[in-house]
Amino acid sequence: MVDVAGLAIEGVSVGGHETCLIVPTWKLAIDVGRCPRRAVNVGTVLFTHAHADHMGGVIHHCATRAMLRMPPPRYVVPRVKADAFRRHVEVWRELDGGALPYELVELAPGEDVELRRGLRVRAYHAPHRAPCQGYVFYDEREKLRPELDGAPADELAARRRAGERLTETLAVPELAVSGDTLLEGVLACPDALRARRLALEVSFLDERVTPAQAHEMGHVHLDDVIAHADAFENEALLFTHLSARYRPAEARALLAERLPASLRGRVIPFLPPWRA
Ligand SMILES: [Zn+2]
Ligand SMILES: [Zn+2]
Repeated sequence: MVDVAGLAIEGVSVGGHETCLIVPTWKLAIDVGRCPRRAVNVGTVLFTHAHADHMGGVIHHCATRAMLRMPPPRYVVPRVKADAFRRHVEVWRELDGGALPYELVELAPGEDVELRRGLRVRAYHAPHRAPCQGYVFYDEREKLRPELDGAPADELAARRRAGERLTETLAVPELAVSGDTLLEGVLACPDALRARRLALEVSFLDERVTPAQAHEMGHVHLDDVIAHADAFENEALLFTHLSARYRPAEARALLAERLPASLRGRVIPFLPPWRA
């Protein structure tokens, strides 16, 4: 578990192997590459794209919840992959013999959906080798319209009786998750850059894989982040999807050495203790 500016995030993320970011407070996960036991506890999974290291664990997630008699999970998938997703589960129903119940929510870049009261998610386009989308999660609350601030209670009551809407919806971006992406995708999404927290894939940290090679694979290189350091307004950045070639101590040392001072104190590498 890591504390990302007051929000607990659990799970695992190793580039090409498996990614599963669990947000227990919101009872959801982003991607299930393989299915960690903890992920079974969350009923909602949002998938960024259909590469195996991000979606490979979905049947395990669905079947384990059914076995434990938990409510059917809800899967949010990129609209372009929704039909293939349905067929995939269909084949597994035939193989497994189980019902594998689930609810599907199709979401395309630019579309949003309320996940639970006060929590909305919007998808945005993430340029990658496969169709991919990032997500921005908003805390939504009703706030008295500013022009009514300080108005006497009987006036507010009268307006309310007359059918007037006294509040407006305030949407605060609490978390953005990049998916696998070129940095351009994040830079083109202002709410990802101003979200309180940004989980950003940074697969490569030094010249062992060059930026050009990283871009060819549709991934972010640390050089890209350094070049655009001023763009990030986030209170905390969680670096995910780090290549398995970096040992945790080595990754920490490279980040400490290479990150500009303006970012250093805000970056948390997602390196679970089992990789230490
Ligand atoms: Zn990946
Ligand atoms: Zn990928």
